[in-house]
Amino acid sequence: MSMTEISYRCYMKLGGIINEADYQSAIDRMRGACALDRREPQIINSIMQVKVMARYSGIALSDSEDASDPRIALYVILRGDIRPTGVKYHHDQMCDQRIFGEVLRMLGDTDSFEKLVKTHPHISFEYERRKTMNRKHKRRLVKAVHEVYDFPALDEYGSKIFGRPIRSSWRIFRNIVRMSVATDVWGWNNYRERASYPGKVEVPTFDEFATFLLHEVAHGWCYFLKDDLSIRDYPTGVDPERSREGSQCASTSYGVDEEQVCWDISKLACEMLGISYQEELAELSHQYYLFHLKWPDDLAGLERLEEKMPAYLKL
Ligand SMILES: [Zn+2]
Repeated sequence: MSMTEISYRCYMKLGGIINEADYQSAIDRMRGACALDRREPQIINSIMQVKVMARYSGIALSDSEDASDPRIALYVILRGDIRPTGVKYHHDQMCDQRIFGEVLRMLGDTDSFEKLVKTHPHISFEYERRKTMNRKHKRRLVKAVHEVYDFPALDEYGSKIFGRPIRSSWRIFRNIVRMSVATDVWGWNNYRERASYPGKVEVPTFDEFATFLLHEVAHGWCYFLKDDLSIRDYPTGVDPERSREGSQCASTSYGVDEEQVCWDISKLACEMLGISYQEELAELSHQYYLFHLKWPDDLAGLERLEEKMPAYLKL
């Protein structure tokens, strides 16, 4: 087992199931945790578990007080991880043998892995992996936003709605783009502090993807900049002229609500990045949102709007 050969790609080839961020975090912690704190009851317990499993499968571990076998260290780390809220599949749901199996895959120890599988014929170590869609769009958007260092027009917009000077907020914005994750829906999650895009339904064009993801990213940008998280109305407004015209969007007089803010920002960012903002689709999505708020029981009305929406918007 060579430690230099460890890579996420090798791990995937061996059929691993843990996502890249969790994988990297566990490997990093393993490298920093050569000597485990053996006074912690949970750690003592995990070390016992892995030793028993290894002995049962005929896998030889080397372990002493000051230099733990990497397989022991990694097992203790994975066993101690707790599933983050909102993540459906996570290694804390796995049985001990499966976790040990992941450890051996992560370290490229195929001999031991085969021994483990043979000893446990009733446990499946194969996982069905579903393809995540729209990853290419995301990569392209991350690249595009990181080619721009600053975006003063966004700060100017922020200064108006938050009523105080905002500086360098593009750095927050582009970081939220980079950290966005594929889930079942478009959204911004305050608890996880992540924007999300659909990973199971294909978004046909990059322009459509950017129009909608940048809207969700804008919700995140508001989250990081506003003082009171419960507020979704910005009474200071952006453009009194537009509010006075009373565009049917739910703008309060002289103010603007967060949905409108996020569409405005998506449009601003698209224009700056040279992306064609999908005005009609954005408007349709906004109308659907407003309709939902005003007439949640009018199912026929909602259906009429849904008919016009592409599949990736009905999420
Ligand atoms: Zn929204």
